[in-house]
Parts: sequence; C-alpha cells; structure tokens
Amino acid sequence: MAVVQGDERDKVAAAASGRRSRGHPLLRGWRRDRYTHGMHPAQMEALRAMCGALIPSLPAEVEGHGRGDPPGGKDLERFYNASAADSIIPDEVTRPSSVAELMVTRCIREAVVLAWVVLWVLSTRVGTLLLCGRLCVSGEFPYVRKFSDMPLAQREAALQRWNKVRWLFPLRIAFAIVKILCHYVFYAMVNENSENPYWKAIGYNVEEPAREERKEATPSPPRSRPLDVGVVETRLLNDNALLRSLVGRGVTVKPSDDACHTVQCDAVIVGSGCGGGVAAAVLASAGYKVVVVEKGDYFTAEDYSSIEGPSMERLFERGGIFCTSNVTTMIFTGATVGGGSAVNWSACIRTPETVTREWAREHGLPVFGSQGYAEAMDTVCARLGLTDRCREEGFQNKVVRRGCEALGLKADAVPRNSSEGHFCGSCNFGCPTGDKRGTDTTWLVDAVSRGAVILTGCKAERFLFETNTNRTKKCVGLLATCSGDGGITKKLIRIEAKVSIAACGALMTPPLLRNSGLNNRHIGRNLHLHPVSMAWGYFPPENKLITGKCYEGGIITSMHRVTDRTIVETPALGPGAFAAMVPWESGRDMKERMRRYARTAHAFALVRDRGDGFVDGEGRVRFTPSREDVEELRHGLRQVLRILVAAGAAEVGTHRSDGLRLRLPPRFKKIAIAIKTLLDVSTMSVADLTGRLKEAEEAFEEPPASLQHEGKLYLLEEEWNSWRKNAAGAAEGAGMGADVAVHQVGHRLQTDPPAMNASAVARWVTGPESVGRSPRRSRLTLCKIKRRPRSGS
Ligand SMILES: Cc1cc2nc3c(=O)[nH]c(=O)nc-3n(C[C@H](O)[C@H](O)[C@H](O)COP(=O)(O)OP(=O)(O)OC[C@H]3O[C@@H](n4cnc5c(N)ncnc54)[C@H](O)[C@@H]3O)c2cc1C
Repeated sequence: MAVVQGDERDKVAAAASGRRSRGHPLLRGWRRDRYTHGMHPAQMEALRAMCGALIPSLPAEVEGHGRGDPPGGKDLERFYNASAADSIIPDEVTRPSSVAELMVTRCIREAVVLAWVVLWVLSTRVGTLLLCGRLCVSGEFPYVRKFSDMPLAQREAALQRWNKVRWLFPLRIAFAIVKILCHYVFYAMVNENSENPYWKAIGYNVEEPAREERKEATPSPPRSRPLDVGVVETRLLNDNALLRSLVGRGVTVKPSDDACHTVQCDAVIVGSGCGGGVAAAVLASAGYKVVVVEKGDYFTAEDYSSIEGPSMERLFERGGIFCTSNVTTMIFTGATVGGGSAVNWSACIRTPETVTREWAREHGLPVFGSQGYAEAMDTVCARLGLTDRCREEGFQNKVVRRGCEALGLKADAVPRNSSEGHFCGSCNFGCPTGDKRGTDTTWLVDAVSRGAVILTGCKAERFLFETNTNRTKKCVGLLATCSGDGGITKKLIRIEAKVSIAACGALMTPPLLRNSGLNNRHIGRNLHLHPVSMAWGYFPPENKLITGKCYEGGIITSMHRVTDRTIVETPALGPGAFAAMVPWESGRDMKERMRRYARTAHAFALVRDRGDGFVDGEGRVRFTPSREDVEELRHGLRQVLRILVAAGAAEVGTHRSDGLRLRLPPRFKKIAIAIKTLLDVSTMSVADLTGRLKEAEEAFEEPPASLQHEGKLYLLEEEWNSWRKNAAGAAEGAGMGADVAVHQVGHRLQTDPPAMNASAVARWVTGPESVGRSPRRSRLTLCKIKRRPRSGS
C-alpha cells in the first residue's frame, strides 16, 4: 500500500470523492496555478482585441437565421452577448488556460515567435498601419489607431483580410493560430462547476442518462480500480512512498544515490497504448517481470467527466493542441494509461488482407503475411470483444447510412470494442460507462494480474546503451523522470532491463530514439497519418427523420468504402474542437454556425496515405500529403458531400478557410458543380468562385441537347408535383418531412423496378448521373433511366 503524505493525501481524497460525484477533479476543471506565457501587457491588449473581433458581443436577435431552431431565451441572449474579449479570455488572471498560455505552451517555437511578433506589431500604430492599411485610419488626431483602438467592424474586416491573404502567408498562420485557440478556449473551457455558460445555447449537454445511472450505482467508498494491483502513480508519491510501492509490487530496487533510483526487471516497455499494453500482457504471462513506463495518468470510467477542455488537457498529447509544423493538419494522440485506446473512436477494423500482403511482399516484412499474424489478430479481436451490431445509431451515423442508402451506396457496419447497446457518445474523452474495452480495461489488466507494474506520470527520457566487446551497442534499459504536478521534475529513475521496448506511438517514439543517441537517418521518416478531410451538413431540428445530436451515440458505427484506400466515417467533435475547425467568416456567422452545433453532422474521408511525413522532434511533425493522396481526399470529400446532400442536409460545406457553403435544395446540377467548386481549394478567390457558380447556373438555363437522346425520361411538372405530393402525404402519415420522404420513398421504389417514374425522380434527387431541371424553373425534368442494381450489390 502506498504511503501518501500531506497535500498528496488531500489530492487522493479529492480524487476519491471526485470519483464519487462527477469525475476526477483533474478532468472536471481547467485551473492552472502558474502562468508562463510571459506576454507583455501591450501584446495582451492586441490579443484581447483580436479575440474580441473573432467572437464579438452581438445583439441577440437573429433575423433570418436559425430557421426552426429552438428558442433559447436567456441562454441564447447570453451567448450572443458574450465576447471573447470579456474577462475570461484572454485575461490570464481569471482564466489561466488562456489563449496566450496555450499559444506559448503548445505551439511550436516558430509559431510562437510569429504570433509574438504579430502581436507586437499590432500593439503599435505604425505596425497596425502596416498590417491593416486604411482600416486603422481615423478622421481624428492622431489619425492612425493601434489595433486595440480600432472599432469592432474594422478589426473584423482586418481579420477577414488576413484569413485570405495568400501573399503574406505568415500573417495567415498567425490568424489561424489565434482563431483556433480563441474558439477552442471559448467553447471548451469550463468554470468551477464544470459548466460552460454557452453550451445550453448551442444545444450541448454533457449530463447524459448513462452518467446519472452510473452515479447512483457508484458505491461509496470508491471501488478498487482494475489496475490498482500493478499501478504506481508517481505523481502522487514522494520518494519513499514511490520506492515502497515499487518493492511492494515485486520490483527489485537497488540502493541509490540521491540523484536516481535504480530499478531492475526483465522487460521495460515505454507506452501503455495498443502496442505497449499487448506486449506487457504477453511478456508478463510468459513469466517475465515487466515494467511499463507511461507519462500520462491513470483514470477509469468513474473518473471520466466527458468535459472537453479538462479531458483534452489530461488525456491527450499536448492537451489536444497539436498541429503539423505548417498548421494545416491537426493531430490527436492519446497520452494516458491505455494510450490512444482510452480515447479513440472505437472502430476496430481488421487490417485487410490486401494491406498485409502488400506489407509482406513490397516492404519485405513476411511476418504480416504469416498465419501467426492472422491468429494474433483473431486473439486481439476476441480479447476486445468486438461486435458490429448496433442497437441504436447516433445522429451522424444515421446521416451517413441514410445518405448512402439514398445514393445506392453500401454502408458497412463497423466493428467496435464496445457492446451493441453502447450509446455514451463521449468515448473520445474516456468512456464514462466503462463499456469500451480499451487496453486499460483488457490487456493491461491481464498484465498486472501476472505481476506487471505500470509507472504512471513517468516519462522515458532516453534508452541506455552499453558497448559490447565487439563494439556493437546493447540496450540495457532506460532513464525516466517522474514529474510532480505542474511539471516539476521529482526524480530520475534508471530502469535496468534485459529487453527494452519503445511503444510510445508513431509520433513520440522517434524523438525518444534520437534523444537516446541513435542517429539512423530512417528514424522519424515514413510517417503515415491517415489524413482526413471533413465536410459538414446542417439538419434543422424539424427534420424528424434523422433525430438526435451530433455528440450522441457510438462515434463510428457505419462507414462507406469509397476506394480501397479511402473510407467515409464520422468524427467525435466536442464544441471546442468543432469551433476550432470550422471556417471563420465573421463573428456573427461563427456564432450562428455554433448555434447549429448540435444538428450539424460531420463526416470525413480518410485516406490510407502514400506520402511520407517526418517527425522532427517532440511535438514537431512535418506532413504534406502526396499529390495522389490529395486526389483521393478530394474524391472522398466529394462523396462525403453527396452523402450529406442525399441524407437531406439543408446546408453543406467543407472546412476550406473562406467558409464557402451551399444552401439546399438547389437544382441537382448546381450541387454537382458547387461540390466540384467547393473542392477547388487551392487557387481561387471568393470572387472567382462566386462568379463561377453564377456562370454555371446561367449556362444551365437552356435545356441540354441530350434531351433528345434515347434512354431519358421526360417528367412533366404535374407528374413531378403529383409524385411529390404522394410522397409528402405518405410521409405526413408517418410523421416525416416531405424532403426526407423523397429520399425514403425513392429508396423503397428503387427496389421495385415497375415503379420507374418514381424511381427516376428519386434519382433526380439523389443519383450521381442525373441531370435534372428544377420543376420550379421549367416544365421539364430530365432523368436518365438506368436500372439501379438492387441495393447492397
Ligand atoms: C482521438 C483518436 C481517435 C482514434 N480513433 C481510432 C479508431 O476509431 N480506430 C482505430 O483503429 N484507431 C483509432 N485511433 C488510432 C489508435 O488509437 C492508435 O493508432 C493506437 O492507439 C496507436 O497505438 P500505439 O501503442 O502505437 O500508441 P498509443 O496508443 O498512442 O500509446 C502511446 C503511449 O505512450 C505514451 N508515451 C509517449 N511518449 C512517452 C514517453 N517518452 N515516456 C512514457 N510514455 C510515453 C503516451 O502517453 C501514450 O499513452 C484514434 C486515435 C485518436 C487519438
């Protein structure tokens, strides 16, 4: 039993009582006692002015927007009135995890310098004139204003300009950094009561029934945790307690000098994620004394709060703020006991045979083609208890499934390591129901039951080598540091082992190897990230066919395979991540987007990339997808947009920075063109894009020549209207909206070949090769008649 002293005892008690109420204290609040950003007050003033323009205080009335959105009363008013320049951010005094703090502690050095310089420049009049031009000129002495003195409208206009400048890329990056952090803090941060004042207005709520049930069911005193028998939480222990705890768990501890404890074991493993956890279980069951070194902390289902800000802070690498060096790609990677498996999205897709064969043949790794590997995969799947059955799908997955069905595409059920009735919706912040079977509740449990020890809050700094007589090097263990809260180094631990395993993930293993003095040029190369491109679709609440909210239910329960390298799936985005990612056009637009948060479905195209990224160092990743990968991403994204449209979205868009989007339902041809245009991300200005859309629309005024061709069906307006009326009538009877009924009835009729006209109409709405004209604008609707293969084929 670990001996705990003074403060530490209080923390443990707090943690224990926290587990009894609403999650672990570390996962409930976002309080930091020290601030290290060191920004000058003048820079803070400029930063505050920027934040205030990004998220401004607005009058609450929202004319012409949010049609059909539920009235929010006071909450909505407070939401619209709130500004990011208010005292909570970026003021470091009242809110420690401020924009400035995150910027300095989480961004790479170059980005910090860049933002630092831009804020300096903006804190002066001359600098503001340089970056904002005429926008900062006033009619009164001294005629030029510094950024923080500019009126809101001018500041907003300046930000809009920076968001688009191609010729001044650094300014655009500085804008992106502040935009991401400011929105993340505004929507993910919580007060002492674990509440964010704006969540109600955007329809977000973390109090879910499952959590309530769990609370009542939780006995007092707290239950023992699955890994208690083997876990040593170094963050909570002083030196003596740490040593006693290690000895108590059967680890040999050698007498040490003041600088370092020395520990001996058979195998030391860095990282407790998917790789490290399985290795620990296998070695421990073979009778070896295993020590797992994990820099993150140990939390269980009882501890998880589902609250975005603090959960990201404690469970993810760099608190979830981790971008590639060019700020084009956001990366998430777990940093807690269980690694990625504790926070991932539960999809457990077996490696396809085509891939294992490729690894075996083309990369000279025969093990992947062996029977042994296939058996190992079976064993892992069995231990994780995979199922692809799902009792109820969440909103986003319903959208994907429905869109696929309407388009005649195949939507596959996704195997997951949780039960078929699992619906918690927040596995990405650690599953609060304990239903998800991550490494922390499976393989690591097996490992500790066979005597393995897990050191948490313990970071491997470097491997230790001895030179053999034949001048080759032999790894003899590693050196690790245990940190106290606040990152103060408490103690070095030297772990001597016959076998050392680096399993700290694709992003953290290379820096560890380099820090250990290894200089093979391949270390850090060939990084594959499986990049994703996202699109969104807004489904107004009155669309009763697809019910629910975007954060509810299993995260990935259905998917569509676009090609053998590209799949379409759905993400888990808390309000902070959502706001950080969606494009910013103006303060009002962003608030309106956020107001629709709960009913905005996201889906992404994920590509098995060919391009090779590079891990430069800790938190430094270079990644640019290859040309083919970009093509695959665009193709996948196009499919995502079609799926969203076909599912009945009222508005769709991507994450391109100028925020171009499409309100529906326009004519299908226009959608096809617009989807293509939406994807032309590289070179066009907004003016060009608007022009191109208009051109396309005008060109479509005339009936196409192909009208005369055989194999086409002419539908008169009356025919269309009567069909639509029937569909709507049927829908009304079933309590649905007419727009979605078109899809549903159409889908039913597609499997019924004699109903050719209706089928064709459905294809006008949903089909890929349709070239229809809106019945409103013309008396003719043109559809290709092609018998659709029966669904599923
Ligand atoms: C949000 C999210 C969603 C995901 N969704 C899915 C999904 O649905 N399906 C899927 O198949 N995959 C998913 N993944 C990916 C999957 O989780 C990872 O591929 C997998 O966890 C990688 O396993 P690993 O053992 O290599 O590393 P990880 O699981 O990342 O484990 C590495 C561990 O090492 C620790 N560590 C790092 N450096 C050190 C150090 N120096 N000292 C001590 N400890 C260290 C880290 O804290 C971490 O706990 C997701 C990942 C994330 C982050």
